[in-house]
Amino acid sequence: MSFFTYDEIDELGEGLIRQYLGPNAERARRVDIEGLVRNYLKLPLLYCSFAEHYMAKIGFIADGFTPLHIVENGKPTERVFAKETIVIENCLRQKHESGRRRFTISHESAHYVMDRTVQYASFHREFDRERVYSLEDFSGLFSFEETLIDQMGAALLIRSNLTADMKHCRGYAKISSAAVILRHSRRSI
Ligand SMILES: [Zn+2]
Repeated sequence: MSFFTYDEIDELGEGLIRQYLGPNAERARRVDIEGLVRNYLKLPLLYCSFAEHYMAKIGFIADGFTPLHIVENGKPTERVFAKETIVIENCLRQKHESGRRRFTISHESAHYVMDRTVQYASFHREFDRERVYSLEDFSGLFSFEETLIDQMGAALLIRSNLTADMKHCRGYAKISSAAVILRHSRRSI
């Protein structure tokens, strides 16, 4: 994956959204992230119940060979999805999960935007302070690459007029737009 600065990522994300929205780009404040994934990026987007042992993992982008453990008809099943398929945990379809659902979809699509080759499958997980993590889990959760992916996910989700406000806040608080969104992801983004 190529590495960019936060500002470059914001610019790339905004450029992509402008192309997707076309003539509506000036007026639209809220990005239809599912529409962007399905109609513009042309990626399959599915909802499944993830198997219990995935715990905090709520999103997945397939590399075409890594199996995903899901529950189908009440039974645990291993399923290999076609490369670039985005799979989202089914419980995020609930209305009150709209913020987490949108952020998870944008995070997974950001993996594709930042690295079109999708060489390896990747999960989106949330930090759960009650849980004991392995070293591997920690490195996945807090890797520099995942931080950049989160930043692109945020750029795909909200318009630059809003990110400008966030940049203003960020100047004082030294936090990324993604962090602001993550903090507010239980509300409606
Ligand atoms: Zn990720």
